[in-house]
Amino acid sequence: MTTNPYLKPVPTNEKGEILGYVHSIETFGAVDGPGIRFVVFMQGCNMRCKFCHNPDTWKKNVGTTMTADEVLKKALPYREFWGEQGGITLSGGEILLQPEFALDLFTKCKELGISTCLDTCGQPFTRRKPWFDTFNKLLDVTDILLVDIKHIDSDKHKLLTGFPNENILDLCEYLSEIGKPVWIRHVLIPTQTDFDEDLEKLGDYIKTHLRNVMKVEVLPYHTMGVHKYHEMGIPYRLEGVEPPTQDRVENAERLLHTKDYEGYLTWKPGMKTD
Ligand code: SF4
Repeated sequence: MTTNPYLKPVPTNEKGEILGYVHSIETFGAVDGPGIRFVVFMQGCNMRCKFCHNPDTWKKNVGTTMTADEVLKKALPYREFWGEQGGITLSGGEILLQPEFALDLFTKCKELGISTCLDTCGQPFTRRKPWFDTFNKLLDVTDILLVDIKHIDSDKHKLLTGFPNENILDLCEYLSEIGKPVWIRHVLIPTQTDFDEDLEKLGDYIKTHLRNVMKVEVLPYHTMGVHKYHEMGIPYRLEGVEPPTQDRVENAERLLHTKDYEGYLTWKPGMKTD
């Protein structure tokens, strides 16, 4: 039997094909990586971010099971819209909890010349084997990653998400070491992440530690997922927190030096950074 890096059985169908637990699909994603993308949101996440707008993706091993071929069959009719940069994005939930499925799908994508993008929060990342071996194989067939740094301070990261950030920063540094292009994203939340001192620290970290950044994005906190908490009977911990003002968004963009990162304009699938 195939095992995943945490030595749990990988789900397969009767033909032995790997199954992924899919939460939902977005056929025309315009914000989930370069170009227009077919986005597959996977089920399951260990983190419990206070601001998460998709608490319905948290539970593991539920949702619709699909093989890589089944995903491709749904995605391929949209191929003509993808252009040079677009393609398929695997998002979540947390995609790195199902790396074998991602590897299977992206290997097939590469055989077909499709651009591949992983959207991750990095929480499962470790340099320990066997997880690391699987991850490296997955990187070989991944063109670009979107990595969320939710807080630069590990203690505050833990208060915000339930997990510290050391291994997430290590993921960013590893991707820089091997020259794999990334977009870095940061959710700006009044009372949680919108403090100049933290933003300056994050901006400096990206500038001094990472050489592979194509784009830095500030994502303004929004409350569109709050109703899901109410429906699911889960307490919402940011009750009363409003989205940031445009001024604060612009301030964060300045402190994160977003204008300095323009690699995304000329990025092409398969590109490596120095
Ligand atoms: S990592 Fe993403 S999916 Fe998981 S809790 Fe945080 S925001 Fe939600």
